Amino acid sequence: MAEQLTPMQIAQSQLKAAADKLDLEESVLEMLMEPERVVCVRIPVKMDDGTTKIFNGYRSQHSTAIGPAKGGVRFHPGVNLDEVKALSFWMTFKCGVLGLPYGGGKGGVQVDPTKLSRSELERLSRGYVRALADVFGADLDVPAPDVNTNGQIMAWMLDEYAVINRKTDFAMLTGKPIVLGGSKGRVEATGRGAVVTLLEALKKLDMDIKGRTVAVQGFGNVGSAAADILADLGAKIVAISDISGGIYNENGIDIKALLEHRDKTGFVKDFSGAEPMPGEKIFELPVDVIVPAALENVLTEENAHKVQAKIVLEIANGPTTPKADEIMREKGVLVLPDILSNAGGVTVSYFEWVQNRYGYFWSEEEVNARLTQKMKESFANVWNMAKESSVDLRTAAYMVSVKRIGEAIKLRGIV
Ligand code: GLU
Repeated sequence: MAEQLTPMQIAQSQLKAAADKLDLEESVLEMLMEPERVVCVRIPVKMDDGTTKIFNGYRSQHSTAIGPAKGGVRFHPGVNLDEVKALSFWMTFKCGVLGLPYGGGKGGVQVDPTKLSRSELERLSRGYVRALADVFGADLDVPAPDVNTNGQIMAWMLDEYAVINRKTDFAMLTGKPIVLGGSKGRVEATGRGAVVTLLEALKKLDMDIKGRTVAVQGFGNVGSAAADILADLGAKIVAISDISGGIYNENGIDIKALLEHRDKTGFVKDFSGAEPMPGEKIFELPVDVIVPAALENVLTEENAHKVQAKIVLEIANGPTTPKADEIMREKGVLVLPDILSNAGGVTVSYFEWVQNRYGYFWSEEEVNARLTQKMKESFANVWNMAKESSVDLRTAAYMVSVKRIGEAIKLRGIV
């Protein structure tokens, strides 16, 4: 029977694989298998036509053993409690791999934001913070952007929190616009960090980035930044897909021109510099690298055996199911796991939080240099763990992370 795991079950099975290798104490594992706290809220929003709509909102704090819960807020029709829990789970281990002083959190609202006017979107963002104001705080739980949320939404959330508390605390969330205490380099950070991870992996395989062919699923904030940086480094982005479908150009897509097209039309569809292709075939193309940069559960037992690429660069959270992992491992496909490769975003969020607390801001060069250094170090830790323990990179990333978090849990005497 085809595997039918929820995101939370996928996350739990990944942790179990690492715990087995580490001989992790049962009580520590049990503590980490579920979030410490989840909050579900109803968010009433006055719509432009005078009616009121009620939206379901969530915040999950998976772990606060190492520091405040940290993680984005997603606005998407597919958001549900299980997904938010899994996303917060992945944040804990992501922050752990990078050695950031944070636990894991994630939030979301079940909504199709494309159906809201700008002012409805503002009221929803403010309503979300009003409903969860006592959960958030610079030392408690620090939100950030995720799928379909951005700097403008963070600005409204920051302001609503300030209205409630009668003072602005810039460190209560990250991913803010620069004038409101945001960090230089934050917008592209996830894409940039992913590229550093890929370059480190290519070095290990004795491969050059120049001329490498790449297919990217998702052309939002993160996928587009990665594609742009990769193209600048000489990679050939031959295929890109989004919800409108796929586009293909064997000579490489002009990413800057595509960005202009997307900003004008909202989608990659009808871009004049490429041919249309079925979006669902994106992972089956004969390319060197495939990049899932959209949502979870897209590399499954249904399509994993059709993967021809040598490397999977996971920019989305949770794109690969355990069965797909197994199939690709057997085929010799190198999977660069999400909790390592997409950690650039939360790493620069951490830099933003530090800068807010200092009240002193770094240049873009400094941010990027620190990000590159952190990503390289973390890659090396994970790579070495994989070699020492003869495990794949995902299990190794969890092992690096679980060691840190488990130690903190034990030292504090939580279990
Ligand atoms: N939403 C991003 C992630 O999944 C960033 C989280 C953050 O910056 O806190 O990693």
